[in-house]
Amino acid sequence: MDPPVNSLVLLHESGISSRLIRGVIVTHCHADHDSGALQWLLNERKLELITTPTIAGSFLRKYSALVGVRKETLSQLWVFRPAILGEPMRYRGAELSFHYGVHTIPAIGFTASYGGKSIFYSGDTCNIPAKMNEFHDKGIMPAGRRDFFLKDDWRHSLILHEAGVPPIHTPIEVFASLPDDVKNRLYLVHTSEKNVPLESGLKMAKPGVANTLELVSEEPPFAFAARVVELFTDLDLLSVSSEQENLSNVTGQQKAGLQKRIIGTSLPLGDLLLCAAVESFDIGETVITKGEVGEKFYIIMEGIVCIVDREVEKQTKTEKSKDWDSINPQASNLLQHGDFFGEQALVNEGTSNMLSIELNVGALLLFFFFSDLSSFFNLFVLCFCLSLFILLQIARVLLPLWHGRHYV
Ligand SMILES: [Zn+2]
Repeated sequence: MDPPVNSLVLLHESGISSRLIRGVIVTHCHADHDSGALQWLLNERKLELITTPTIAGSFLRKYSALVGVRKETLSQLWVFRPAILGEPMRYRGAELSFHYGVHTIPAIGFTASYGGKSIFYSGDTCNIPAKMNEFHDKGIMPAGRRDFFLKDDWRHSLILHEAGVPPIHTPIEVFASLPDDVKNRLYLVHTSEKNVPLESGLKMAKPGVANTLELVSEEPPFAFAARVVELFTDLDLLSVSSEQENLSNVTGQQKAGLQKRIIGTSLPLGDLLLCAAVESFDIGETVITKGEVGEKFYIIMEGIVCIVDREVEKQTKTEKSKDWDSINPQASNLLQHGDFFGEQALVNEGTSNMLSIELNVGALLLFFFFSDLSSFFNLFVLCFCLSLFILLQIARVLLPLWHGRHYV
């Protein structure tokens, strides 16, 4: 939501894969909220732009003018998912309910509910109870909208509320009289530490990955299955690249047909799920050893794994490191969420692994036995694709090592 400028790089440097991000909520078109969104929408994969049609229109007009690209062309870069007020949106197992705040331009906030927990994000808004009553009395604000602001019972598991300078933001005094139970769940945003009085019992939401607030909630039924299917269907080698899409100008239907030809048949997802298994590894464990005969195809669900060639390492006298601080997440020999390995076994059953795979950060790996997978695919086409990927991957890892750059 409202990703800051360069947040893509920040995530990458923190070892968080951008593939985990599927959509961007833009709450409004003030520069401190929407400037980073375009960077995300220009990223390698097509993301969803989630906002109201009014705000999406402003966003498109603004960035079309700024970058000098026609609106029709620019809007092709993302998939617009309209946020409709009063109609909760089902989104990746969660429910999103949007509301308009009180601001100088149309600005939304939202409540996200998932597995029995909820997060309220105010968006930019001036939420002074006396003002809401005044607006209603003057006939500017309907009763329902006034009640939304007044009734806020602060029941959410986590409350992220803006604080700032009225009349377009909520003054910090509004929160001072809240009960301690609410203050414990309340994190202020859009203000600075110096504006939060020490004795107020209020606090800021601190920036940075290390300050992530985590809500432990129960996963909805099939959430795990959905992750497995998503990982598999997202594999680069099973999808048509955007270049291919642009070059041949294929329609959605043609694309589906092309994927179907590569896979051989539309994926029997139920059968695929029943073949999948999960293995978890600790830091420093070895998943695949060079020279051993491989029989599993792995896809990374969580964590970071490292491709190593001990012989090259010995020659370059590289030390093996196990702590995160000494890892460069941008190193070309690290694999993250959605990356895969062990594909040699798929191309030619009984083949020895060419490189070792070790864990740098504990990981959860999804794997399939080659013998189970083979029934799903048009093997000739798949083997061709996989051979190509193996060569590219080996080149990606070995070339920097040969050039004297070592990361591990
Ligand atoms: Zn604003």
